[in-house]
Amino acid sequence: MATTAWRLYFIALFFAARFASAADSNPAHVDAVSAKPIPWPGGIIPYDISKLSEAQQVTAKAAMNRWMDTGARITFIPHTTETEYVNFTGQTNSGNNTSLVGFQKGARADINITSFWWRQGDWMPAHELGHVLGFFHEHARWDRDSHVTIHYENIKEGRQSDYDWIPKTNWIVSTTAYDYRSIMHYRTCWTSKCESECKDGDGSSPCVVIAPLGKEYDKVIGQWGDNGISATDAEKARLAYGTKPSADSKLTKQDK
Ligand SMILES: [Zn+2]
Repeated sequence: MATTAWRLYFIALFFAARFASAADSNPAHVDAVSAKPIPWPGGIIPYDISKLSEAQQVTAKAAMNRWMDTGARITFIPHTTETEYVNFTGQTNSGNNTSLVGFQKGARADINITSFWWRQGDWMPAHELGHVLGFFHEHARWDRDSHVTIHYENIKEGRQSDYDWIPKTNWIVSTTAYDYRSIMHYRTCWTSKCESECKDGDGSSPCVVIAPLGKEYDKVIGQWGDNGISATDAEKARLAYGTKPSADSKLTKQDK
């Protein structure tokens, strides 16, 4: 009897371990301090683009429109007196980054984008706005090791933490499938320490940082110009913010 119980116990342990490895990523690389982002109240996000050049302002607005076009209840409005808002700093020498993921009471979300990326169109601003809306990097998902291999040995010094994974409970939306086409997914060679030898779009090139499992998505990940805000990104925005009433009625009309 005792032997059978022990055997059952070990079988249970075996399956628990297998399940954990399929659902979660390597615990050595978990982001232990992440918190679940909060959506902007009412989906209203005030913005200040006054520190940008005229051309950059056009690009920033195009990026905001990309998110408003998802059918999610998201509205960007010019900033007046609100404490919480998105501030495009106009700083072009501080990398591409956002100070906040999601809404934070009493805090302003600063976005920095480099000159090079401003010249590439609206996708880097759209990516940074994705963070502001509450989205983490897709390759930081709890189950990412089932979809990509992160080659830590190829990551530039100091950038390893960019590839920490975030527990499922901390995601603003965790019901959609892993999305290789996400605007929040890095490309294969991003932050590679030997980037000049790295061939983007080829997961088996030397020096790649992210290699999709299998070849199918090598040329897909991080190709924002092709992917745009993906269908799943748009779905996540609608799940986090609700659907615009106008989008509902448009859908109803089309259905008729
Ligand atoms: Zn990012």
